[in-house]
Amino acid sequence: MAAVTTIDLPGLTKIATGKVREMFVDEADKSSLLFVATDRISAYDVVLENGVPNKAAVLTQLTAYWFSVLTKHGALAGQTAPLSTHLLSLTPGPTAHLSAAERDILRGRCMRVRRLRMFPVEAIVRGYLAGSAFAEYSSKGTVHGEPAGVADANGVIRFPLGMVRCQKLPAPVYTPSTKAELGAHDENISRAQAAELIGNPAHAARIEELALAVYSAAAEHALKRGVIIADTKFEFGLDEETGEIVLADEVLTPDSSRFWVADQYEAGREQDSLDKQFLRDWLVREGLKGKEGVKMPADIVEQTSKRYTDVYERLTGQTLEDALAKIE
Ligand code: ATP
Ligand code: MG
Repeated sequence: MAAVTTIDLPGLTKIATGKVREMFVDEADKSSLLFVATDRISAYDVVLENGVPNKAAVLTQLTAYWFSVLTKHGALAGQTAPLSTHLLSLTPGPTAHLSAAERDILRGRCMRVRRLRMFPVEAIVRGYLAGSAFAEYSSKGTVHGEPAGVADANGVIRFPLGMVRCQKLPAPVYTPSTKAELGAHDENISRAQAAELIGNPAHAARIEELALAVYSAAAEHALKRGVIIADTKFEFGLDEETGEIVLADEVLTPDSSRFWVADQYEAGREQDSLDKQFLRDWLVREGLKGKEGVKMPADIVEQTSKRYTDVYERLTGQTLEDALAKIE
């Protein structure tokens, strides 16, 4: 399957383009969205010129896999209400405005989802101290503005002193950030600032509760399959009809999470990323890190695609081909 980096569906209205996805609505049904992943890939914050075959299918099918695991009875401990997700179907549904050729392009890479009012925060959960959190910890002694080594109101020290790069935290922590517009960087914020952006204390509490419960259940599941989920980002939205807080967007994918190979993990150094390390190493070797307009040669594309597929297969225990064959 060739990589697809732009998607236009003339019968539907494109309402948004993100770094990776395109969103469409059918003028006849505005309560749902067609949520479509492209094969675009970014590294060091720059989107490459060409795409990676099967990447969109990996992101979409992995999200669907997690939704199914996480909504099983008893999957999440101690919830005040069951988890609900935005997924309606893995096919475009009965819209009259798609040709057979367009349905073919959408196969495996789209979801029909509930259209939600998204909260303007990224609900990040960290099990390990990596990335921007470690950078802030080592330069300022804080994480998302919270001082390390200080107990919170419950007497818990969320960020002990003396931690090294990529060290496991005493317990998973909820560390939200802002959700920047396309092209800008997200900013790490405190839980109180996030609650203010969310606008309703009950919604903020539910988002934190769900984010932590979903991370913990998924991290346990992944570890059994040899993968550490070091951290991940969730997005939640409000279903304005039911008042429910709904888990939306992509979930626990290589684009929204740091995945490490468990038996190669060692605190105190950077860890290789399961999916993108190969591409990053090539960019650095070629002096292309952070440059715009870079086109990957065929072997780099192929190897990167293979790595995305491997991540899917490790985490789900099934081949991507088998998952795709199950979609009508
Ligand atoms: P990145 O994921 O790289 O930070 P991005 O989020 O801008 O960038 P995409 O993932 O390409 O880009 O786009 C998905 C967009 O769809 C996000 O803005 C997300 O908040 C929004 N979204 C996700 N699920 C829903 C939903 N059910 N209803 C409405 N909007 C949604
Ligand atoms: Mg996104």
